[in-house]
Amino acid sequence: MIVKERTIPLKIKVGEALLRRFPNDQLFREELQEELDKRWAGYRGEQSLDHYLNLLDEKKFLIFHDLNLPWGDYTFQIDTLLLSPHLAIIIEVKNMAGTLFFDQVFHQLIRTNENGKEEGFADPITQASLHELQLKQFLEKYNLPKVPIEYAVVICNKYSILKTNPGHRRIFQKVFKAPRLMNRIHDLEMQYPKEVLSSKELRKISRFLLKKNTPPRKLFLDRYLISKKQLKTGIHCPSCFHIPMNRIKRQWHCPACNTFSKDAHIYSLYDYFLLIDSKITIQQFREFAHLKSRDAASRLLTSTNFPSTGTTKDRYYHAPSNFYRE
Ligand SMILES: [Zn+2]
Repeated sequence: MIVKERTIPLKIKVGEALLRRFPNDQLFREELQEELDKRWAGYRGEQSLDHYLNLLDEKKFLIFHDLNLPWGDYTFQIDTLLLSPHLAIIIEVKNMAGTLFFDQVFHQLIRTNENGKEEGFADPITQASLHELQLKQFLEKYNLPKVPIEYAVVICNKYSILKTNPGHRRIFQKVFKAPRLMNRIHDLEMQYPKEVLSSKELRKISRFLLKKNTPPRKLFLDRYLISKKQLKTGIHCPSCFHIPMNRIKRQWHCPACNTFSKDAHIYSLYDYFLLIDSKITIQQFREFAHLKSRDAASRLLTSTNFPSTGTTKDRYYHAPSNFYRE
């Protein structure tokens, strides 16, 4: 049973909004695009795993995607967690092409691409085993029932080639290609035949994981943006992303691709909530949307049905309640 669905990560949504509204002359534009490409690849990799996870016995396994759990002042992120009465399995997903050498001497991952160029990465095995330790301590901290924890690093690019140092082949129990996932889960079930969690205990842990899930709110904006004043304002075109659209006869019109839209301002408000603030006044919206009249701004903002607080004069409209949830 899927307890926590996978959604497009906030960092991707913020990155896309930032790219739309980034000043054109910024040096970091390409860097941001590259980072976004990597994050999309990671997200698609995780999605591709669903094909196998769907084969799991729904009654036996609880599935949590993208858990961000507190760890001191930080959080640690688990791509996918499987929880059964027997054990918990942390799954880290990597979507990487090329030859992947899992160096067990220096604990690093070296990727060689088709041109022979080598690139170093943090070792996903070390990362996953750290998450195992963190999850164990998380359960202890909140006096939750004990359960054995295992982890797996799943490589979902079917063309990549996995290698390691001589004598370390046993790491391929922990690192393998996606199609092997079911076999590995089956092996682990054999290894832990004892039921250690009652259904009540499973529900308790499940509730706690959801309650403590805290998507990171510091969203790499500072790395790219010196000031929020740099951001382009105006309504963006939902078709070609041109900024700004013009208000013509109660519709938005894009001068670049000639699209007319009735609700383009909603998508631009999402950009505002992602990049600037989680709430907006009529006056702020009027400026952001380049609207001439306060009445039009008020009418449009009210029509969104976003939750509002405050009196007429200093009323704030807020991002929908599940907007920042991951
Ligand atoms: Zn357009």
